[in-house]
Amino acid sequence: MRTEVAIIGAGPAGLLLSHLLAQDGIESVVVEIRSAEYVASRIRAGVLEHSTVELLESVGLGERLRREGDEHRGIHLQWPEERHHIDFVDLTDRSVWIYGQTEVQKDLVAARASAGQEIHYEVTDTALHDLDTERPYVTFTDVDGVAQRLDADVVVGCDGSFGPSRGAVPDSVKQSWERVYPYSWLGILADVAPSTDELIYAWHPDGFAMHSMRSSTVSRLYLQVPNGTDVADWSDERIWDGLATRLGHGQDGWQLNPGPITEKSVLPMRSFVQTPMRHGRLFLAGDAAHIVPPTGAKGLNLAVADVAMLAPALAALLRKKDPTLADSYSDDALRRVWRCTHFSWWMTTMLHTSDDPFDAQLQLSQLRWVTSSEAGAAGLAENYAGLPIGF
Ligand SMILES: Cc1cc2nc3c(=O)[nH]c(=O)nc-3n(C[C@H](O)[C@H](O)[C@H](O)COP(=O)(O)OP(=O)(O)OC[C@H]3O[C@@H](n4cnc5c(N)ncnc54)[C@H](O)[C@@H]3O)c2cc1C
Repeated sequence: MRTEVAIIGAGPAGLLLSHLLAQDGIESVVVEIRSAEYVASRIRAGVLEHSTVELLESVGLGERLRREGDEHRGIHLQWPEERHHIDFVDLTDRSVWIYGQTEVQKDLVAARASAGQEIHYEVTDTALHDLDTERPYVTFTDVDGVAQRLDADVVVGCDGSFGPSRGAVPDSVKQSWERVYPYSWLGILADVAPSTDELIYAWHPDGFAMHSMRSSTVSRLYLQVPNGTDVADWSDERIWDGLATRLGHGQDGWQLNPGPITEKSVLPMRSFVQTPMRHGRLFLAGDAAHIVPPTGAKGLNLAVADVAMLAPALAALLRKKDPTLADSYSDDALRRVWRCTHFSWWMTTMLHTSDDPFDAQLQLSQLRWVTSSEAGAAGLAENYAGLPIGF
């Protein structure tokens, strides 16, 4: 097989890249280890930044988002006995949209299917070759067990944190930075109307909790738990009790409405960045190059920002033989990656409790500052609603 751009991974980064490239008349083939159904049903992110929404809209992917998504002006930040609203629109003139990653994925799959995009699902043994040359290629075994070779001008690793692309950059070239946090999130999906209009981020001595939502009938909630937590130790009743305590059920008359839990999982928290995001004819985008803890709602948005910068760079490289943008892609993308890495770390360390009482006082002081100073609130708002792509 031959194509212009071989894309590894059919998550949001891979499919959006194939969509953006097609708009520039560039052909791509996508290979994906999982089945289409599995990829479509993965419950992950749910907050879209202002720039993500603008980009999706500009390339014909905003119609259902505007119809079924929910625009939020800001978030609630709270600690025992206090709840404050940070209004992003007042502070920065930018909002966020609640629209699940599953929905973004469905829209991307539908758009690529109607354009006849070639996607090979359920492949195995994906391997990258000759990345230092102008004739790189990818090998894999297809769903029927047939060995395949995909020749391309460029290979893009959009294969998330466990794919092979990141490891294809030689050790002599790559550098990585990592922070593993001493806690995880126990996340649930529940068939119950959200008990809040906008997301609640709660600091509590028992640990962080968050109330978000996927729709008017489905809520998504999280509890800080120790690393290594087994979901089996958390009955539905224990989860709702923990959420009620940490989110302040009864505080100023506010009620948390419990409902049937349809999904439970534990998500470890990690920050990770690997540089450079380009080596020879291999480019990395999304979680393949960087992971953020979900507290700042940045993972999916960063994947979108990466491919928004990469698509024009590849178009210039392949169509005009102009390597300028491709050569600066790694540095350009990493500026935003580090900004979001810092913001995600900042939100995480402000809100997650440890056993250290000194840390707790610093966190409460920071929360008071962010919620009472316009400068403090504006900094949070600007980062949360998202800096422009290319910032
Ligand atoms: C378990 C989990 C829960 C998350 N929860 C949240 C959340 O609650 N809130 C939030 O803001 N963010 C969350 N995130 C982050 C967000 O979902 C990611 O940042 C986003 O999915 C990144 O998109 P991506 O396309 O770069 O990577 P992915 O969505 O990971 O896509 C990578 C694709 O590559 C495929 N792949 C892997 N290996 C191979 C291979 N060998 N060959 C071919 N294909 C391969 C994978 O199957 C996958 O489909 C979560 C992430 C994870 C992993």
